[in-house]
Amino acid sequence: MSKTLILASNNAKKLKELQALLQPLDIALVTQGSLGIPEAEEPHITFVENALAKARHAAREGRGPAVADDSGLCVAALGGAPGVRSARYAVDAGRIAEGLPREQIDAANNAWLLEVMKGQSDRRAHFISVLVAVRHADDPEPLVAVGHWAGTLLAAPRGEHGFGYDPLLWIDTHGASAAELPPEVKNDISHRAQACVRLRELISQQWGPLQSAEHHWPWQRP
Ligand code: IMP
Repeated sequence: MSKTLILASNNAKKLKELQALLQPLDIALVTQGSLGIPEAEEPHITFVENALAKARHAAREGRGPAVADDSGLCVAALGGAPGVRSARYAVDAGRIAEGLPREQIDAANNAWLLEVMKGQSDRRAHFISVLVAVRHADDPEPLVAVGHWAGTLLAAPRGEHGFGYDPLLWIDTHGASAAELPPEVKNDISHRAQACVRLRELISQQWGPLQSAEHHWPWQRP
């Protein structure tokens, strides 16, 4: 029987990706939504604080170990913006209303970023993914796994795959925008993939005793 880790997200793509990466550790992920746990607030100005808040919330409500992620795009010339506000960049700027379908929000975010970056010669940017795992809500030793994926901002969108800012980030090593890469290539090299691999290492190293034959992790309350 697998050990269970609560995923503080209801994003099916993230569930699938993380589940595949944690498979070798015999860890089964359950989404917080399937346990009736509401989404946590993300009020902080850093990715790690938001991911930690989400993980603690899921662990507290779900009474067991939890993992959360926070990700976004950081642009060098903008001091790291849109950063933790990546998903809401155009909404924050009053460019688009809240609550519209994701595709529309993504297109508005991209259009706004291109406008902000008009005439800017320093076009360095990177995606970041921060994964935080806690054994319980008050865990004093959260595991923190970070992945970066660097590129150069284009002057116009390119490519049809992916989501978010993928059409705007040119990946020099592959001679393509992130949205032009086949999904399996992106999923192999992206910020999220790198953070997932690192988290797997951390869980094996630091939660190692849990790889015993026990059905439940010692800190998982029945
Ligand atoms: P979330 O952590 O999935 O909510 O992502 C926050 C926001 O960061 C997304 O809405 C996107 O705008 C951006 N983002 C995060 N990861 C990616 C990616 O892999 N490609 C493109 N945009 C991303």
